[in-house]
Amino acid sequence: MFKALVLNQNEGKTTAAVEQLAISDLPEEDVLIKVDYSSLNYKDGLAVTGKGKIIRNFPMVPGIDLVGTVEESADARYTKGDKVVLTGWGVGENYWGGYSQYARLKADWLVPLPKGMDPIRTMQIGTAGLTAMLCVMALEEGGVTPERGPVVVSGAAGGVGSVAVAILSGLGYTVAAITGRAETEGYLRALGASEILSRDEMAQPPRPLEKQKWAGAIDTVGDTILARMIAETDYSGVVAACGLAASFKLPSTVMPFILRNVRLQGVDSVSCPYERRTNAWQRLLTQLPENALGEIAQIIALDEVPDYAEKITNGQIQGRVVIDLNA
Ligand code: NAP
Repeated sequence: MFKALVLNQNEGKTTAAVEQLAISDLPEEDVLIKVDYSSLNYKDGLAVTGKGKIIRNFPMVPGIDLVGTVEESADARYTKGDKVVLTGWGVGENYWGGYSQYARLKADWLVPLPKGMDPIRTMQIGTAGLTAMLCVMALEEGGVTPERGPVVVSGAAGGVGSVAVAILSGLGYTVAAITGRAETEGYLRALGASEILSRDEMAQPPRPLEKQKWAGAIDTVGDTILARMIAETDYSGVVAACGLAASFKLPSTVMPFILRNVRLQGVDSVSCPYERRTNAWQRLLTQLPENALGEIAQIIALDEVPDYAEKITNGQIQGRVVIDLNA
């Protein structure tokens, strides 16, 4: 028997409880994995609390990412003892996920643990950190180099935001961090932000075009903050949009696109193709400053997840939360 966090629904309300399961309870898939660590992402928070319509089939084991060791594999790409990482593909939403000491998953969803990377480090990074790297890659692909000027990051003290600030500053960019929590200023400066901007000020609805300030932008929150970032982006700048922590709305105009050649690039980590995914992990291994994750991540046990899920949906988590399945 092993432990898993199981979500059920009673009269429309989601409940979360740690239960004892048997391997035979797991869904039939190619690869059986002994899970070492998972992590808490915003989407996990919505799923566990039931605040977002993330899960449609119950019972469900949540957890959209995990790192672990292959126990059994029906797929030739993996054999017993291999260390593997999973993020996305609807795991923890449509398929049983990482908040469990064992998981059965499709081989196609897995990537080998990058050589030289500590398992715990992959979950300190997790889906949020992978998404941050994909956002940085989107800026680079649009020609945003450190010489072009500063990059602004929203939701900066959250998971995606924190890792984005650390990667950008490690790569030599000047970073401005938007936060609603003034008390995180020291933390954000330690990650490499050189300017701290107030969320309330950045959330003021912008004019169609504002003064040009940013070579690039990474947005994790949506709504008027994203609209303002777009309106403040330099000629031929790039805005990478990956999140909706404020709202899914985008009250913008076409003006920055047609008069300033601004590019709005969407970023999705869930269905990111294998090659781009492994490339992003490889870059995280070498380009995320070693000391940053110590600042960014904390570790909790499985039974603490429901409390932390509530906190992340209330914007009260700083950085990243790792779940130790064996604590
Ligand atoms: P998180 O740790 O909760 O970070 C979100 C941050 O947004 C918070 O820490 C807070 O930062 C800020 N925030 C919260 N509520 C806000 C509001 N009402 N208005 C403005 N800012 C607000 O979550 P995360 O895991 O980093 O995820 C961030 C977003 O990215 C989520 O929307 C998530 O769904 C999305 N995401 C998308 C992908 C993808 O593949 N596209 C992957 C991962 C995550 P401050 O306290 O610093 O203001």
